[in-house]
Amino acid sequence: MAEETARVVVVGAGAAGTLVSARLLDSAVRAGRRISVDLIDPARCTGRGLAYATADPRHLLNVPAGRMSALPADGDDFVRWLSRRAGRPFDPGAYVPRGIYGSYLVDVLRRSVDAAEGIATLHRRCTRVVAVGGTADADRVRLRLREGGTLDADAAVCALGNLAPGRGWVPEGLWRSPCFVDDPWHPGALDGIAGDRDVLLVGTGLTMCDVARTLCAPGRTVHAVSRQGLVPLPHAVAAPVGAPAVAPGPVPAHGDLAQMRREVLRRAAQYRRQHGDWRPAIDELRPHVTEMWQRLSSADRERFLAGTLREWEVSRHRLAPATDRALTESLRSERLTVRAAEVIAARAGENGRSVTVNLSDGRSITVGTVVNCVGTEGRTRELADPLVRSLLDSGTAVPGPQGLGLDTTAEGRLVPAAGRPAAPVWTLGQLRRGNLWETTAVPEIRVQAVELADVILDRVHASLSV
Ligand SMILES: Cc1cc2nc3c(=O)[nH]c(=O)nc-3n(C[C@H](O)[C@H](O)[C@H](O)COP(=O)(O)OP(=O)(O)OC[C@H]3O[C@@H](n4cnc5c(N)ncnc54)[C@H](O)[C@@H]3O)c2cc1C
Repeated sequence: MAEETARVVVVGAGAAGTLVSARLLDSAVRAGRRISVDLIDPARCTGRGLAYATADPRHLLNVPAGRMSALPADGDDFVRWLSRRAGRPFDPGAYVPRGIYGSYLVDVLRRSVDAAEGIATLHRRCTRVVAVGGTADADRVRLRLREGGTLDADAAVCALGNLAPGRGWVPEGLWRSPCFVDDPWHPGALDGIAGDRDVLLVGTGLTMCDVARTLCAPGRTVHAVSRQGLVPLPHAVAAPVGAPAVAPGPVPAHGDLAQMRREVLRRAAQYRRQHGDWRPAIDELRPHVTEMWQRLSSADRERFLAGTLREWEVSRHRLAPATDRALTESLRSERLTVRAAEVIAARAGENGRSVTVNLSDGRSITVGTVVNCVGTEGRTRELADPLVRSLLDSGTAVPGPQGLGLDTTAEGRLVPAAGRPAAPVWTLGQLRRGNLWETTAVPEIRVQAVELADVILDRVHASLSV
C-alpha cells in the first residue's frame, strides 16, 4: 500500500520559513518519506522577509559572506554560490548587499525542491494566516486564512520573524500623520520622502544605519535619536573569517548579571591588550549566550533588558565597515546627527507636509518625515499581531520567559497554556527569544531549521502510521 503523504504548513516565507521548508524537503528525501509543504506568506517574494527584501545595494549584510551559508554542515555554500554568480573566486570576508542574500535563499529552496521531485512537494501560497490551533484530533492542526478558508495539516511551523516595530513611543500627533513612516522595511516605504526636507529617525540601531544611508543627501539633515544614543560599533576592517578564537575560554561561570558583565569587559580588555582588538572576545561568546541568558535570574534578565541590553547589542550586532565609513562621513559633514533623546510630543504643520517634534533634550525640530527605526519591541502580550493574539487567546501558546516570544520546548514546539493539550505546532527564530535569546540571525536559524525538520518529519510519520 502506498505511504500516506504528510502535510506540513510553514507560516512565514522569510529566511526562517524558507530554510525550514528546504530542510523538510531534504529530510523527506533522506528518509524516503512522502511530504507536502505549504509555505504561506502574504509577501509575493520568497526568502526575503524583512531583512533581505531591500533593493538598495548600500544595505549590506552585517556578517561577512563566509559566515552566512544557509547550510550548517557546509559553511562554504554561500561563498561558492557567489563565486559561481561572479564567475571568479569570491572573498569570504566581503559584506554583500542583503538583496543578493535573498536571491541566494530562493536558490537554496529551489535546489531542495528539485532534489525532492517525486517524493516531496512545495506549494507557495500568498496569504496571511490569522489563527493556528489544535483540532478534535490531537495529532492535527487547523490554520485559518485571512480570506476565511482553513487548512488542516499534520504539523505547522510559525516562522513569523520580526513582528511589527515597537510603537509605544509614537505620540498622538504623529500616529495618523502622512509624515510618519511606521515600518521602513515595508517595500517602497522610503520612496515618497521628499528630497529637500529634514528627517527624524527614532531608534539608532542597525535599521537606523541603513535608513540613514538611504536618506542622507546634500541639503538635508537626518536627525537620529534614541534613549541612549548608542550606534552599533563597526566590524574590524579586515576581520579574518574563520580565524580561531585567540584564547577560547569557558563561559563566564557567574550567574549574576553584574559579575557576568565585568567578566565580558575583562575578556574584551584582555583581547585588546594582547591582540589589538576586543571583538573576538564578544564573538567567542556567541555559542554560549543562550546558556548565559538561561542562567540569569528573572530579576537579572529584567535588569539586562532595562539597561545592559543596548551596550551588548551595539557590540554584538556590528556594522559592515563600508556602512560605518558612510555613517562617519555623514556625521562629519553634519548631514546626520545622533543624540540621546526621547520623543515627547509631535504637532503637524499647517500644510500637512511637515511635523514639529519636541524632544526630551529640549530641542524642537521640524521635519518632513519621522521614521520608526526602533525594531520589534515589547512583550508578546502587547503585540497586536492577529496570529500571535489568537495563539495566546486559544491557549495554544503562552509567552516565553520575561514575556518575550512564545514559550517552547527544547525542540521548539509551542508550550500550551496550563491544562490545554499541545498542538503539533513548532517555531524558530525570533519567537524563541525568551527561551534562547541568541536566536534571531542566520547562524542560529539555519541550525534550528535542520533540527526542526528532523523532529517534525519523525513526528508526523509516526502519527500517520498509528
Ligand atoms: C535590518 C536588518 C538586517 C539584518 N542583517 C542580518 C545579517 O546581515 N545577517 C544575519 O544573520 N541576520 C541579519 N538580520 C537578522 C534577520 O532578522 C534574520 O537573519 C532573518 O531575516 C530572520 O528571518 P525570519 O524569517 O525569522 O523573519 P522575517 O524576515 O521577519 O520574515 C518573517 C516572514 O513571516 C511573514 N509572516 C508574519 N506573520 C505571518 C502570518 N500571520 N501569515 C503569513 N506570513 C506571516 C512575514 O510576512 C515575513 O515575510 C537582520 C535583521 C534586520 C532587521
